[in-house]
Amino acid sequence: MSPSDNNLGLYVHIPFCRRRCHFCAFYLEIAQPAPMARFHSALIQEIALHHRQDSLNGRALQSIYFGGGTPTSLPADQLAALLKLVRTTWPTSATTEVTVEAHPSSVTERDLTVLADAGFNRISFGAESMTDKDFASIGRFGQVQDTAAAVQAARRAGFSNINLDLMYGLPGQSLQDWIRTLESLMTLTPSHISCYALTIEEGTRLAQDIVRNLVLPPDDMLQLDMESATERVLAEVGFSRYEISNYAKPDSACRHNLLYWTGGEYLGLGPSAQSYLHGIRFGNIANLDTYAACLNDNRLPMTDRTILSASERQRDALVFGLRLLHGVPRKTVKAAERDHQIDELVAKGLLDADRDRVRLTSLGRRYADTVAEQLF
Ligand code: SF4
Repeated sequence: MSPSDNNLGLYVHIPFCRRRCHFCAFYLEIAQPAPMARFHSALIQEIALHHRQDSLNGRALQSIYFGGGTPTSLPADQLAALLKLVRTTWPTSATTEVTVEAHPSSVTERDLTVLADAGFNRISFGAESMTDKDFASIGRFGQVQDTAAAVQAARRAGFSNINLDLMYGLPGQSLQDWIRTLESLMTLTPSHISCYALTIEEGTRLAQDIVRNLVLPPDDMLQLDMESATERVLAEVGFSRYEISNYAKPDSACRHNLLYWTGGEYLGLGPSAQSYLHGIRFGNIANLDTYAACLNDNRLPMTDRTILSASERQRDALVFGLRLLHGVPRKTVKAAERDHQIDELVAKGLLDADRDRVRLTSLGRRYADTVAEQLF
């Protein structure tokens, strides 16, 4: 048995959204019936091919995650049928975490009931902000009050494990605006919150607007103040920060994401989905037509495949493990003069260390990648 035998997940990428948010660089298509039907058939074929090749060696899934895009662009009954297919293809257990991402403004109470009845036991809403002007500045459709309505409907449908995704450092957003968003969302009593600093990705509408001086770029210092405020506000209502961007109530950390940060294995399905199995990283083609054509031809739609060396695996363990608040075992650090390097980073206030583990300080979290490079 490998150490990761109990740490296996499935990710299903549903690449459709009603429209593209201004900051978003994910691979996606605008939701239309014809491409959605093409995707649905291809996905079923992809599941069948992996099953035939026994890609997961009959191992049980600890987590299943339908992400996107906006998975709820597909009809709820279709998502329910896909989950059923996954569960009849691969073993799961009574404790398997099964997440679906949803847009609060495009999901009905009936949809949520269908999803809960099908076995999805965790829902993640892209709330982003609780201020309408922020929605306008990032090109997000819907209205902020939709989030409260969706969370209440999800609860009535049977979901108790509810995550809200948020972004801070949005154009024109002040520290007070951000704190108001957090406080307003706390009244909805989610079990998990993910807070991401806005980053500007090349090729996005926001990147173009910044070049044209229509929008100011994110203010790093303001984002740091917002990050500190987040930790404080959420701690006051019982959330623990367990990863750089993630906060959870007791026993509500996202198992699927933990799998990414702890060297677990995962199979990704759908265009652009990434996988890590048997020490090999591979990715699917990020193009729906080519993805569907490959599967139509009975070929897996892989675009790259890298066998990780022992050294690369150790590097990943350090880079991903340091994202977690409890850090990594000291022996994960590979630097030639390990103790000296750790002492130097501790002296700079970037790292905390004891005999067994090293972890980033709050200052260190701002420079996580640089610190990881120095420790490898
Ligand atoms: S809803 Fe999510 S995936 Fe879709 S465009 Fe917006 S940020 Fe991107």
